[in-house]
Amino acid sequence: MKVLVINCGSSSLKYQLIDMEGEKVLCKGLCERIGIEGSNITQKVGEKKYERTLPLPDHAAAFEAVVAALTDAENGVIADMSSIGAVGHRVLHGGEKLYDPILIDDEVLKAIEDCIPLGPLHNPANLMGIRGCMAVMPGVPMVAVFDTGWGMAMEKSHYMYALPYEAYENYKVRRYGFHGTSHRYVTGRALELLGNPNAKVITCHLGNGSSVSCSKAGKCVDTSMGLTPLEGLPMGTRCGSIDPAIMPFLMDKTGMTAKEMDTYMNKKSGMLGISGISSDFRDLGAAAEKGDERAKLALDMFVYAVKKYIGAYAAALNGADAIVFTAGVGENDREVRADILKDMEYMGIVADFDYNMTCPRGEEVCISKPESKVKIFVIPTDEEMTIARDTARLVTK
Ligand code: ADP
Repeated sequence: MKVLVINCGSSSLKYQLIDMEGEKVLCKGLCERIGIEGSNITQKVGEKKYERTLPLPDHAAAFEAVVAALTDAENGVIADMSSIGAVGHRVLHGGEKLYDPILIDDEVLKAIEDCIPLGPLHNPANLMGIRGCMAVMPGVPMVAVFDTGWGMAMEKSHYMYALPYEAYENYKVRRYGFHGTSHRYVTGRALELLGNPNAKVITCHLGNGSSVSCSKAGKCVDTSMGLTPLEGLPMGTRCGSIDPAIMPFLMDKTGMTAKEMDTYMNKKSGMLGISGISSDFRDLGAAAEKGDERAKLALDMFVYAVKKYIGAYAAALNGADAIVFTAGVGENDREVRADILKDMEYMGIVADFDYNMTCPRGEEVCISKPESKVKIFVIPTDEEMTIARDTARLVTK
């Protein structure tokens, strides 16, 4: 069966077509600037590239462009859409009702809509994506896979915030966690590499958005993102965890509204806010090397925060069997990995710093020394394949 995997943002649509026989990625594509002037679609099939600049007023139009790209006589991959057996959609927020991957019907659409207050930017985009897709592929089974699904295994004492209980009862304020599909995938791979399905694993998804999670026997015990993706590590442009009293303090001092404060913390903070240079770790690394103090400070703050989460989660789990690094920074930034792993021998974490600098990219590697009690893996994440597998499993059941 061929499965189309869709990941919709408010102005973008990423897709992959995967042949489940042999789990082969047939093509990857991206629509950008949906609803904005200058919209375009690019698709790659091996070395072949399909590119068009065309008006994409909404997600339905974007799907029509996807169909045209997939079935293009010269640079497409399929003759017609009937060869696609199912579609898997990444959905940000499922609240407390939706967590396992699920076949989409009217009831599920309504439930995703009900979660819009919890995911005000992403859930509407996800819904537009699903509806746009249904319009061009009527009758094809569709599955929703939730970013919050992984965190639903947490115990209540781990996901509650110490606010008046009514905040949870009335508004569902609690820790949900995000990057669930990625944490689930790399945890599964780590359990296989360890040959122990009951192992305790700490997963560091370090990218533009970053989160650390920990699990036992493949079930999430804790995760650093919270009600929204703002909590936890400092990120590209997000501040991560701060003293909550800073918000009213700064609002009082500057006259910022709640909405402005939200933008300040989500878009202007983190690596960008501290360095004043960039949210991109490559730029920060280059600037720090040239002696830029604030770029170095931003990187040091990031490294320190990841270290603290590893320590906290090792305590929560009563020791870890493995630590996993994944996503853009985790898979590629050898210096950041080395700085995180420095001086952790007390916890039984002994990295092979030489191999960390020379190990191949894009492959699963073990960068701990043989004497390390805790195995350290770099595992490229594959959210699309995970969504495709979930989709195929549900559709063929
Ligand atoms: P997103 O959260 O947008 O999915 P990614 O997981 O793609 O983010 O990670 C993006 C981050 O990864 C960027 O900050 C980028 O600088 C960093 N990154 C990608 N490649 C490298 C590299 N070779 N060296 C250092 N950092 C890298």
